[in-house]
Amino acid sequence: MTQTQQIPSIQLNDGVEIPQLGFGVFQVPPKDTEQAVTLALEAGYRHIDTAAAYRNEEGVGRAIDASGLRRDEVFLTTKVFNHDHGRDRTLRAFDGSLGRLGFDFVDLYLIHWPVPTKDLYVETWKTLEELHDDGRIRSIGVSNFNSDHLERLEREASTTPSVNQVELHPYFQQPELRSFHAEHGVATEAWSPLGQGYEIGDDTIGTIASGHDKTPAQVILRWHLQLGNVVIPKSVTPERIRENIDLFDFELSHEDMDRIAQLDRGERLGPDPATFEAP
Ligand code: NDP
Repeated sequence: MTQTQQIPSIQLNDGVEIPQLGFGVFQVPPKDTEQAVTLALEAGYRHIDTAAAYRNEEGVGRAIDASGLRRDEVFLTTKVFNHDHGRDRTLRAFDGSLGRLGFDFVDLYLIHWPVPTKDLYVETWKTLEELHDDGRIRSIGVSNFNSDHLERLEREASTTPSVNQVELHPYFQQPELRSFHAEHGVATEAWSPLGQGYEIGDDTIGTIASGHDKTPAQVILRWHLQLGNVVIPKSVTPERIRENIDLFDFELSHEDMDRIAQLDRGERLGPDPATFEAP
């Protein structure tokens, strides 16, 4: 079986299937993006995570276009950034993303951050609902939303986000938010799943990895998959791109999972969504 065939999918609350493993391109420089995404598609990834804020949507689109794959064989996510909240700006931002990607739809469109100080995320969400109804987005979701932001959408809008993409890695496991997602039918997608590479040196992870004859990165990614998270590791290094998809020939035991659960320190690497408002 190829790696692609082994990647499980998760059914979202709108019936759309998302490959549980994707390839993230935050901080991949625009000039290197086409090559990195091409390597990822060759390695078997069929899910790419970009954002308008990453300024590399063009390279993602070119790589998919040149891959020989049909557009519907690749699950593509992009995001509306903080300065584009509100109906008119969101509609323009979405058109801009589609233009840069070079496609006429995306699979998943996310509100990148809630920016509660602007108090426009409900209006922005309703705009995503419109775009979804028009058939230009297959599935709509959010990123960096806390449970209170999600509860407000539930009260004031008609659909529940299919996905919440949040910071999540062994040192920041977000157990309460994951439980909230499970109760409300929202898929958990983990950003910085490897702790931006820092957690690869953790002793416990290293010991578990040796026991399975796998690498620490593979153990962390396997832990995410077994928790049910969608996971989107980033790498520009060809061997690591291949390493991070080679996850389907081993399984972590309950004991391994428990040991990793104990590594949680509740420490964020990124900004706090309750206050982050970068334009
Ligand atoms: P990751 O946890 O994916 O870590 C990436 C870092 O780990 C890079 O420095 C990479 O190095 C290194 N690395 C990758 N694989 C390995 C490996 N097998 N062994 C050793 N080192 C490795 O962090 P990111 O912050 O990039 O998060 C992943 C994706 O999540 C982003 O690309 C983006 O798509 C998304 N994201 C979303 C956010 C949001 O607000 N919604 C915020 C942040 C990220 P190298 O590239 O040099 O190989």
